[in-house]
Amino acid sequence: MKDINVLVINCGSSSLKFQLINSKSEEVIAKGLCERIGIEGSKMTYAPAGGAKQETETPMKDHTQAVELVLHALTDAKTGVVKSLDEIGAVGHRIVHGGEDFASSTLITDEVMKAIEKCNDLAPLHNPANLIGIRACMELMPETPMVAVFDTAFHQTMPEEAYLYGIPYHYYEDYKVRRYGFHGTSHSYVSKRAAKLLDQKYEDLKIIVCHLGNGASISAVKNGKCVDTSMGLTPLEGLIMGTRSGDLDPAIIEFLCNKEGKSVNEILSVLNKESGVLGLSGGFSSDFRDLEKAYHAGDAAAVRTMKAFAYRVAKYIGAYTAAMNGVDVICFTAGIGENNPLTRTMVASYLGYLGIELDEEANAKRGEDVLISIPSSRTKVFVIPTNEELAIARETVALI
Ligand code: AMP
Repeated sequence: MKDINVLVINCGSSSLKFQLINSKSEEVIAKGLCERIGIEGSKMTYAPAGGAKQETETPMKDHTQAVELVLHALTDAKTGVVKSLDEIGAVGHRIVHGGEDFASSTLITDEVMKAIEKCNDLAPLHNPANLIGIRACMELMPETPMVAVFDTAFHQTMPEEAYLYGIPYHYYEDYKVRRYGFHGTSHSYVSKRAAKLLDQKYEDLKIIVCHLGNGASISAVKNGKCVDTSMGLTPLEGLIMGTRSGDLDPAIIEFLCNKEGKSVNEILSVLNKESGVLGLSGGFSSDFRDLEKAYHAGDAAAVRTMKAFAYRVAKYIGAYTAAMNGVDVICFTAGIGENNPLTRTMVASYLGYLGIELDEEANAKRGEDVLISIPSSRTKVFVIPTNEELAIARETVALI
């Protein structure tokens, strides 16, 4: 195993998350976050391993300036973790949409940048920000190899029948309208980890991964390949999420436009930002910590919301069990999947037909890989904390 430090960068439209990871020990040497880039009140949080977390309010007019500040913090004489930028051997960039061009991670070249730019249409909020992050790093570290790791790549093995929509085929040919799926790095990491925990070959298993965070998606991984996933052309499809609606009848959009005198864009904004568990709970909260508390207090809005959320997850598990003609292991991951035993119990209550029974003591654990089904469960159920940054660092090292 190479022994280098990999800087993992995840750029949003006004934010930049980073981690510096040693490839040999796989330890996080430092991590942090730049927020409100290009907006008043920009702030950087920087946490070196074993050191105190620092928060600095400092202007960042663009992502280049944010990257500059990150590199400065990492090499700072007092609080830095490396002596110079030479000690950063590679940069791994999380890229949201790779379209059909990228079925795996790739070293970044001019051609790759152009191909990512071509996908801007498919992820207008994310890909341009990702590209800005790459350019900023290239400007400041021109000699350091950079790797693009795509959220969509893991799902490129889906067969045609899973990725095509039932609309005129020429929309696929003309505009590449199809299902792509997201959270691929997480689905890949967690499904591989499940095989390892079971001490079985990845290629011999049928795995369902439930990535339940603020954004949520499920994938079916058969014999080491993703065969279906719940997000589509965009991350709006599939499960009920924090603020996104997930699946709905497309005719609802026109219906609501007419009723409310709103534009398609306005209704889409409602579907992205005001729906999901936030909308279903009547605007109460998008956070499962709040919802769980209210659920236990018998609050009707929280009860209907959590029931609808769990039901949708269970329905997808049923669909993917059918798609794979069985399932050996189901994994829960991400903010809700890892931290909310109640949601897992509610989902599992639908899964008796798979011979699943949860071990409630194991289900109450947190922060580690845990088998939460009882030993006699025909289908195993795991909680596996996801680690997208580590997965990106591993991919990066493998490519340079
Ligand atoms: P993620 O997008 O993976 O960071 O997940 C964020 C979501 O996870 C939050 O909005 C919460 O709904 C949920 N979450 C995080 N921590 C907890 C917790 N301790 N208990 C319940 N839900 C949690």
